[in-house]
Amino acid sequence: VVQNVGTALAVYEAVLKRKPLVERVVTVTGKSVKNPGNFLCRIGTPIAEVIKAAGGLPEDTAKVIGGGPMMGRAIFNIDSPLMKGSSGILLLNEKEGERKPCKNCIRCTKCVSICPMGLEPYLLMKLSQYNLLERMEEEKVMDCIECGSCSFTCPADRPLLDYIRLGKARTGMMIRNRKK
Ligand code: SF4
Ligand code: SF4
Repeated sequence: VVQNVGTALAVYEAVLKRKPLVERVVTVTGKSVKNPGNFLCRIGTPIAEVIKAAGGLPEDTAKVIGGGPMMGRAIFNIDSPLMKGSSGILLLNEKEGERKPCKNCIRCTKCVSICPMGLEPYLLMKLSQYNLLERMEEEKVMDCIECGSCSFTCPADRPLLDYIRLGKARTGMMIRNRKK
């Protein structure tokens, strides 16, 4: 079992101290954040309050990301609460938050070489676009750990992780429905 530090601490506190998971350390960062740092927060705290503790929302903020730069997701509403899986808040300015236009796949296989799970991200993205869920299952989409390495390495700026996540969610639902 490979765990991150936060999970290891939560397991320690639950087993040895009988303390449920009611708080966690959340990192708030970004180039324009006045007081970036790690904050011990209760689960359920509004994200806006955590940002306030780090010096407030910088004026140039264009995107708020929940999680890190690779696996994180854009947060639509900063009044939403911290969840047990919230590990970080990243504030991006306009330039950093901008998506580069998606270009055609040049079959360089960089995404394949970098995938830690041995998947073929370029193929999974295509299958997701065509909603070919059974093929996605065969190609082991459920093994994807959503690390984002494929998207980061792609020289054609293809949004591989976005499509793979979507396809994985749909494939997972198909598998669960089959078991009913
Ligand atoms: S996000 Fe999924 S498909 Fe892409 S590199 Fe990571 S594990 Fe592989
Ligand atoms: S890294 Fe991008 S361009 Fe290269 S094979 Fe994968 S999807 Fe295609």
